[in-house]
Amino acid sequence: MNYVQNVTNLSKKRDSAEPEFQQAVEEVLHSLKPVMDMHPEYKENCILERLIEPERQLMFRVPWTDDKGQIHVNRGYRVQFSSAIGPYKGGLRFHPSVNLGIVKFLGFEQIFKNSLTGLSIGGGKGGSDFDPKGKSDREIMRFCQSFMTELYRHLGDSVDIPAGDIGVGGREIGYLFGQYKRIKNDFEAGVLTGKGLKYGGSLVRTEATGYGVVYFVREMLKANNKNFKNKTVIISGSGNVAIYACEKAQEYGANVVAMCDSKGYIYDSKGINIETVKQIKEVERTRISEYVKHNPEAEYHENQRTLWDLKCDIALPCATQNDINLEEAKKLVENGCFAIGEGANMPCTNSAMDYFQENNVLLAPSKAANAGGVATSALEMAQNSMRIPWTFEEVNNKLDDIMVNIFKESSAAAEKYGVPGNYVAGANIAGFIKVADAMLCQGIV
Ligand code: NDP
Repeated sequence: MNYVQNVTNLSKKRDSAEPEFQQAVEEVLHSLKPVMDMHPEYKENCILERLIEPERQLMFRVPWTDDKGQIHVNRGYRVQFSSAIGPYKGGLRFHPSVNLGIVKFLGFEQIFKNSLTGLSIGGGKGGSDFDPKGKSDREIMRFCQSFMTELYRHLGDSVDIPAGDIGVGGREIGYLFGQYKRIKNDFEAGVLTGKGLKYGGSLVRTEATGYGVVYFVREMLKANNKNFKNKTVIISGSGNVAIYACEKAQEYGANVVAMCDSKGYIYDSKGINIETVKQIKEVERTRISEYVKHNPEAEYHENQRTLWDLKCDIALPCATQNDINLEEAKKLVENGCFAIGEGANMPCTNSAMDYFQENNVLLAPSKAANAGGVATSALEMAQNSMRIPWTFEEVNNKLDDIMVNIFKESSAAAEKYGVPGNYVAGANIAGFIKVADAMLCQGIV
């Protein structure tokens, strides 16, 4: 049996209760086969065995009190996966579905994504099974304070730097930062990213992941003599990533006709009014179904998954993992979809990804396509260190350059290892090699 298969089996045996983590491991390791053939030193130094095992994983109790005085107990997680090329970096997710396996899959993906940005950041991820939906601001604050009261001892601007993810946006980062500062008695701006602009945040961080997805897809389309102009686009999700992917795609002339949340989707043939979506999701924090009250010609459909039955040229899944399965992939291809840009982490199942590739659908993998968020977080850290903020244009230009570069590196790695045009394999390979080589230099740690 070959090395990659052996390590995949090891993960299957050891982490059998963590299906999402196994899925991520299998997807990455499978594409590294040609690399292992060319570089026996990786096998000799057990690079893969070491990479699939987090350096450290933390689980902790998060007790908090609601507005009625009722006590609740949630579980907190932080997986510090790899510090081979820099301090652990990756977001925090607050969602009832969060468990150790989900955090591990996200942390594992983050290693390669962060490497692809070309910046010195290692991989980590965290979160809690806390559900922010329906909670008051004060309840959110008390939860964040309790969460940070344990987590702070594991953080530091050169140790581990969390950011947002599902359920964690500017409001939550503010409360987390306030509590960290209070405990440490130190304004350590670079310990969290996604901060508000008034206390060390960076311009463009809010837009970065969504804009970055579209910059990456723009490059992928360009390399294949295509573009966004007049293309019909559908987007899953209506959160941070989805909103700004929509905004940028529209700027490039695309007609974005559908978006969703976990309850249902909206269809607006004239094009989604993104300002309405921002009002509903960022200000009112309510359901996407409200959209039709503002735009009566649009339609609302209750089953969110039937979104993928719609006809489109380009699909941007920007909600959550395993959002597009094999059946949905078949439907998309049947309806003429020719490009997928993964804004969420691992939004396509492995069989959906295989199907897209077998049917020559251009596939921008999440590790590469959504790396703009963490890249801009690193730019936020750079501004914090210098104590000088950059303008919107400066940060946006740097983000665009980073995304262009990630596309070039992924494309070149795919070419070099014999899978031209396979950006999924290319991104995995390019991200992996930098981390693996750093591990070789640092000895068996
Ligand atoms: P948000 O919390 O802002 O938005 C998440 C969106 O996805 C909401 O519309 C939510 O609907 C929907 N959603 C969540 N879970 C489900 C589900 N099980 N089924 C259907 N819809 C669901 O999160 P983000 O936009 O920040 O994150 C979206 C994705 O992008 C995640 O995979 C995240 O890991 C990834 N990502 C985010 C980055 C960032 O900078 N924010 C960076 C890189 C990746 P509802 O409101 O109904 O729950």
